[in-house]
Amino acid sequence: GELIGVTATNALELGIDVGDLDATVLGGYPGSIASTWQQAGRSGRGTGHALSFLIGQDNPLDQYFMRHPEALFGRPHEQARCDPENPYVLADQLLCAAYEAPLSPEDEAFFGPRLGDVAWQLVEEGQLAARGGRWFYVGGVRYPAERVNIRSTSRESLDLIDEQGRLLETIEAVSAPYRVHPGAIYLHQGESYRVVHLDLEGGVARLAAVEADYYTEPMDVTDLRIVRSIRHRTIAGTPAYLGLVRVTQQVIGYRKIAHYGQRVLGECLLDLPAHTFETVALWFDIPQKVCQGVVEQGLDLPGGLHAVEHAAIGLLPLYAMCDRMDIGGLSTPNHVDTGRAQVFIYDAVPGGVGIAERGFQVLEELWETTLETVRTCPCEDGCPSCIHSPKCGSRNRPLDKEAAVYILEALTHPRRASHRKGGNR
Ligand SMILES: [Zn+2]
Ligand SMILES: [Zn+2]
Repeated sequence: GELIGVTATNALELGIDVGDLDATVLGGYPGSIASTWQQAGRSGRGTGHALSFLIGQDNPLDQYFMRHPEALFGRPHEQARCDPENPYVLADQLLCAAYEAPLSPEDEAFFGPRLGDVAWQLVEEGQLAARGGRWFYVGGVRYPAERVNIRSTSRESLDLIDEQGRLLETIEAVSAPYRVHPGAIYLHQGESYRVVHLDLEGGVARLAAVEADYYTEPMDVTDLRIVRSIRHRTIAGTPAYLGLVRVTQQVIGYRKIAHYGQRVLGECLLDLPAHTFETVALWFDIPQKVCQGVVEQGLDLPGGLHAVEHAAIGLLPLYAMCDRMDIGGLSTPNHVDTGRAQVFIYDAVPGGVGIAERGFQVLEELWETTLETVRTCPCEDGCPSCIHSPKCGSRNRPLDKEAAVYILEALTHPRRASHRKGGNR
């Protein structure tokens, strides 16, 4: 061939054999060890040598690997997270199974103890019918497996239509307030569109092609209430929990930001419905004396907690196969349910897929790697490689890098931190 190189999305990662590629350049950590090897492995298919480059992007995970290459080379590929008992996942699976053969209570052996609850729920929805101690598929869809989204649990979609009435794209309805709120600039195949109308009930957004010298960024507020804790343990004096939470998110407006210079050109408020869902979260208390220590050092407690939350979310994909976009968080010096300073990290997927659960299992390690990443980041007071988050609803404010280091040191080495107390800042 005559091509000297190919630029591709990760579509090239699987299944396509390019033959004799000599080298690959990965633009950023692909999100999982498995994908990294897959992508690097596009070169060197034969017996010769090949070269692969990984360019670290400006985010905590990429920078962690840049400083700890052994973490990349020494690590087995990650555990894919799937929770077959998640009622959202289970409902779809039961419909598919019932379509093939009626279900009975004995099928608990395959589907777990929630089979009955979810099956009766589906009876109420008119998708299954109960007869003679068995459940039969009576749903309207000809072939229910078609409707199962294997990448996410969201069932509803929304169509993006241009001025000529053409369908541009279909997106998940739950992401619509973030991606296609009225006034949003939306990129579709390299072209800019402005959203002129969003009809959530009708499942349609209307877009008009525009030339815009700015992009838009949604502003949202998140409220998180504890439903109940499922597990609890104390790590070096810090209580940590795994449990069920109710998250309410609402896009309250958006900012217009200039492409060049990143200047904020203006803010617009929106009136969109809130989205509430239950999911699984891990959370931990920041001991009272640590909070006091932060304040005594003249540091900002809310900024420190917020920074810990961001950085820990950025590094959790190191332990669970997921994208940081699959994880949400909330930090507060005074949570409404407990009155305590707490950091929450939750599965952004309703019902949870096991990400927070994995984080709860490895919490000590997560704190350690988070501390290491934040402390060794050469920036002065926070950057995208450590404590900034690309999806922060409050535009990365407040953040206090030094307070985050103080808190994480106190969590991981309680003794050392108390010596530092009243120290020489
Ligand atoms: Zn930094
Ligand atoms: Zn934030």
